[in-house]
Amino acid sequence: MTIFTGAGSSTTTTHFIDGRWTDATGPTFPVRNPLDDSLVAEAAAGGAAEASAAVAAARAAFPAWAELAPGARQRLFLSAADIVERRTEQLVELMAVEGGASRAFSTFQIRLSAAMLRQAAGWGYLPYGDVLRSDIPGRTAMVTRKPLGVVAGFTPWNGAFYLAWRTFLLPMAFGNTTVIKPSEEAPLSAGLIHAEILAEAGFPAGTFNVVTHAPGEAAAIADVFFDSPEVRCINFTGSDTTARILGERAGRSLKRMVLELGGFNPVLVLDDADLEEAVKAVTFGAFLHQGQVCMNSRKVYVASALHDEFVSRLAERVSALKAGDPTDPEVIIGPLITDRAVQQIDERVRDALDRGATLVTGGTAEGRVYRPTILTDVPADAICATGQDETFGPLLVVQRFDDLEAAVAEAQATPYGLSAAIMTRDRARGLDLAQRFDSGIVHVNAPTMASEAALPVGGVKDSGWGRSGHYAVEDFTELRLTTVSSE
Ligand code: ADP
Repeated sequence: MTIFTGAGSSTTTTHFIDGRWTDATGPTFPVRNPLDDSLVAEAAAGGAAEASAAVAAARAAFPAWAELAPGARQRLFLSAADIVERRTEQLVELMAVEGGASRAFSTFQIRLSAAMLRQAAGWGYLPYGDVLRSDIPGRTAMVTRKPLGVVAGFTPWNGAFYLAWRTFLLPMAFGNTTVIKPSEEAPLSAGLIHAEILAEAGFPAGTFNVVTHAPGEAAAIADVFFDSPEVRCINFTGSDTTARILGERAGRSLKRMVLELGGFNPVLVLDDADLEEAVKAVTFGAFLHQGQVCMNSRKVYVASALHDEFVSRLAERVSALKAGDPTDPEVIIGPLITDRAVQQIDERVRDALDRGATLVTGGTAEGRVYRPTILTDVPADAICATGQDETFGPLLVVQRFDDLEAAVAEAQATPYGLSAAIMTRDRARGLDLAQRFDSGIVHVNAPTMASEAALPVGGVKDSGWGRSGHYAVEDFTELRLTTVSSE
């Protein structure tokens, strides 16, 4: 099946279970372009029955996949990476019409995805375990890593293409099989297109399965995952609100969880920063994908001496970003995903302005295309400034600071701990400050975004548990101790 044949056309998609696209006989739900509500696809509205079939297929495929030689696995992943690159134009178009992604953002995701597939290709060869000393004479002890079994993944709509790869391939590279439930907002770019690519690459039937569902039906599928003993781990990317609901279920069924959640991602611009570099890093970090990425910067603390010049250069750069239809390659700011998303940003901008903030640029929308917005003089109790509740859109707060220690403390007075950035010409000072951040990632002189697939990404505190990159071996395998004694 070809699930996406180009902008302007619409297909009916089905689930992918046990190496086959299912029959297109059941109910469907519409998947629409967030720019103009045009139909992108009619997707299968699955539920518990499909989820159970997918889990059974993944369970059946597990022993052979777990035992497959590393070289055979490697060839499959390398082939998938080539297919991703070969399909660049199709993928760019799909991400634009289904998710509102600019070409800049979709090509960023494609580059990272291909890189991640090529890195994961070699993970089958990673050190497999250790031989340990024992106090008992004649005893040999060894520790080996075993895959968990079936890993069930929830993928989000925002960095859909890249994040779904992460959900499939980190567990699969270590010998697990997978069932993915893509977000109902973007089921094609958050899972179905991956099934098409993995099938084309020749991955064995049942090693990856995708079940789609209509809005409001996620819980029925989640229930099957939690109630199936074969599912050993829930791999979730999304909001901390949903993660709390799933976490309670995981507590009852004692399932391991890997969570990639939201962030506040503060930036500190120190008084010795290269202003132009700081402006570039913040523009990219705050407004990539119109602020709908978990690592987007929500607040920048700028040393007083640089503040006014920083704001004026940032405003100039940001207001020049072209907004509109993301199929236009020059457009950087596409539509937000839903009316609710537009409403959230608008409410937060109005809330800050009502409390006395100054609007530097933005603050208006055309349809769902919200102009990138910068606020200054924002009181600490404005919703967008507190760092307590993630703002998920093109809204950046810039705050002046005189006291660096106070700014460092304030930047961390948030339940989130995903990414942070420090801009300074003094690398030693940057490194020293970085060590004091309670954050999964701290960049000195780079945007808060991830830009290399090999480096481990993940959060602390309410931003989640687990890491990408080869450190994911900790999340998706378990240790087995074997001892052999002489008699
Ligand atoms: P976002 O707000 O970024 O869409 P969500 O946390 O709502 O993030 O969604 C992330 C994933 O979680 C999606 O795949 C969605 O379908 C799923 N999801 C949302 N609510 C529930 C729920 N109550 N039970 C199970 N899954 C859910």
